[in-house]
Amino acid sequence: MKRTKLYSILFLKCPQCRQGQFLEAHPYKFLKMNKVKDHCPKCKLNYHIEPSFYTGSMYVSYGVGIAVAVAAYVLTLLLGFEFGPTGLLLTIIFALLITMPYIGAVSKSIWAHFFLKYNPEIAKKASNDGSA
Ligand SMILES: [Zn+2]
Repeated sequence: MKRTKLYSILFLKCPQCRQGQFLEAHPYKFLKMNKVKDHCPKCKLNYHIEPSFYTGSMYVSYGVGIAVAVAAYVLTLLLGFEFGPTGLLLTIIFALLITMPYIGAVSKSIWAHFFLKYNPEIAKKASNDGSA
């Protein structure tokens, strides 16, 4: 099964095989919020290539946050809401609050995909392995 890098990033999959889960749990499960697994359950890739590797993903989440804010703003305009400046600001803050867990998760995913490369051979082996 061929999966794109974008799919792998957005659905929080392993950068190397694009099949194994990247996080311990769903981003909206607050107890394990955005905890990255130790290894890929499929290909055994070590997700933590160095101590506090994912600290750098904060820079990514800043960019993703701005993208969400802009998207919320554009969506408000497209839908024709006229909230005024205060309403618009509150809308953007609300959009950021509800997407925050996912922003954090996807930022770590982007960060990992930036440093860890896809390997088609390993991906093929992992998909022949059976269970998810
Ligand atoms: Zn993997």
